Amino acid sequence: MSFRIGIALGLALFLLLLARGISFFMKPKVQAAEQSEIRVRLSRGIHRLLFEGPKIWIDVLHQSLQPGKDGVEIQEETFPGQNREPLLLIKNRGQEHRLPLTSLRLRWKGPARISLGKQGKARRLFGELHLLRRNKSWLPTLNINMELYLSGVLQKEMGAHFPLEALKAQAVAARSYARTCILRSGSKSFDLFGDDRSQVFFEVSEEPRILKAIRSTLGQILIYKRAPLRAYYHSTCGGRTRDGYLRFRDVPRFALPPVVCTYCKDSPRYRWTRKIPKKTFQNAGIAVRGNAPIIDVLLRSPRGDWERLRIRGGGRVSAPFPASLLRKIGSLPSLWITEQRYQKGAFLLRGRGFGHGVGLCQWGARGLARLGRSAEEILSFYFPRAKLHKPN
Ligand SMILES: [Zn+2]
Repeated sequence: MSFRIGIALGLALFLLLLARGISFFMKPKVQAAEQSEIRVRLSRGIHRLLFEGPKIWIDVLHQSLQPGKDGVEIQEETFPGQNREPLLLIKNRGQEHRLPLTSLRLRWKGPARISLGKQGKARRLFGELHLLRRNKSWLPTLNINMELYLSGVLQKEMGAHFPLEALKAQAVAARSYARTCILRSGSKSFDLFGDDRSQVFFEVSEEPRILKAIRSTLGQILIYKRAPLRAYYHSTCGGRTRDGYLRFRDVPRFALPPVVCTYCKDSPRYRWTRKIPKKTFQNAGIAVRGNAPIIDVLLRSPRGDWERLRIRGGGRVSAPFPASLLRKIGSLPSLWITEQRYQKGAFLLRGRGFGHGVGLCQWGARGLARLGRSAEEILSFYFPRAKLHKPN
């Protein structure tokens, strides 16, 4: 080897090490984003759980248990008819531990199958479970890696059958939304609910397409005015999304403007018809009188969603009531109602879209992905004021 080649190789090696060194020092920041955890409140209150999987650390026992073939069962032991406080009962491999009833933490490594409640279906979960004792039951909160959590959200909120670019856009929206929940949780014992009060999460997904969507958008979120965007999403807008501030009030004034979307045309609820019998109103305490009653819309959103209503008929009017009540009693996909008719003792309503109509339209994202648009293009279409932040 000549001296020059030696120097060149040495220099190349030096540059390589330098680059590795720089990336090594930059890594913790990226990892901090990728490895962030989220606390998910999984259920409204349970008295029992079954754990199947690897060795589990139970804090109140001050020891780990290796689950037997029937798993570790944790429940409350009550003594009906006796004047005794209930106990915490932990059963494993024929052994029973009895302790004063309390809150507890369970910790394990890798996947476990956990059934919550008596009839609960087993869920594939990772992380740490915190059972907080409140109002005579336990509120289970899962501390889980953000990306594993998101796989479960994609499974429930969109499904693996959607196109990959739509799934990637959904992953970024759900991650951004989750980040805002972490920022807002303050001193609460959890960040968000695992149901439709926040984002639906049941278990960690194993669907390859979902995992691919998560991996290829790892740590990416939408930013508006230097803060994570509360990136709302819904099934089908029906032709136009709604202004997020006017609908929810918990986003900055111009963060989620409405957009015109016709890409959700293939959705089964792009247009819909529902029939609500007179009796259904009466069961809800709303009187429907006369032969040709009509629903008076006292207030509507700029898009046309019904907000406040009353019923007129037989020379009388009902007391005003919120349109959300109508949505509930009639199981309506949305409140964007464009036509009403009354015939044979029932209201016939025609409407558009499914869901609240704010932010990303999932069926629209599907339509756009099928037209060849990328996840980034889909996100900038539904969130035109936000910027996509990539962690590296
Ligand atoms: Zn749409």
